[in-house]
Amino acid sequence: MKTCNTGFFMSPQNFSVNDGDGIRTIIFFAGCPLKCKWCSNPESQSCNNCLVKEYSVEQLLKIIERQEIFYRNSGGGVTFSGGEATLNQDILRKLTNTLYDRAINLAIETSGYFNFEEIKDILEKMDLIFVDIKHMDESKHIIFTGKSNKIILNNINKMNDLNVPIVVRIPVIEGVNADDFNISETAEFVKENIDNPKIELLPYHSFGDEKYEALGIEKPSRAFKTPPVDRLKKLRKLIEEQGVKVVSYS
Ligand code: SF4
Repeated sequence: MKTCNTGFFMSPQNFSVNDGDGIRTIIFFAGCPLKCKWCSNPESQSCNNCLVKEYSVEQLLKIIERQEIFYRNSGGGVTFSGGEATLNQDILRKLTNTLYDRAINLAIETSGYFNFEEIKDILEKMDLIFVDIKHMDESKHIIFTGKSNKIILNNINKMNDLNVPIVVRIPVIEGVNADDFNISETAEFVKENIDNPKIELLPYHSFGDEKYEALGIEKPSRAFKTPPVDRLKKLRKLIEEQGVKVVSYS
């Protein structure tokens, strides 16, 4: 079968410490099946804009190779992000297999919106999977992201059998999903479906607004707000009361 050797990416980011253990390089795949109304990387939603570039597997591997010493000294590695990395399976598989054979620590940040059977072999090679639950209510999930949450929730259940640590991330946004009921439902789902249940709360920020301006598209609604610190504390407590560990990679 013929496979593709180049794909579209935002610039890789070296020296990241927020997306897995140690010092990491983040590879941002362009293209995403979701269209979250608060997305802080709107350029990642398509492969055709001024902030996205074409890279070959070899070019990406060269960028990664130069950083290997930092991974080894810090327990870090490479994190695949996006957009949605699993949309470009050929490239993701090639990078994963090569880096896995070199014993480089691998993590993925995913929306969870993919065909599990098609990419199971890739996920099995990860050391850590970050997957988002943006809303437990299906109709609200459709309103805010353009897609149902059913595939995502099913995939989280299936990922639990891979024996790879999973962290469920909630982008916490006042005006979308930060109410007690939704956060409690999310924690309950995580507790029921993941053997070692962990949640990371990612408070909403509007740092991506400049990119909306650069791309000439409408900015996220002003109704979306960052939850105050006290509110986040309460949500953390709510999650922990359900027997789910709250973790932080920032
Ligand atoms: S899944 Fe992530 S990258 Fe895709 S639209 Fe939503 S926030 Fe943006």
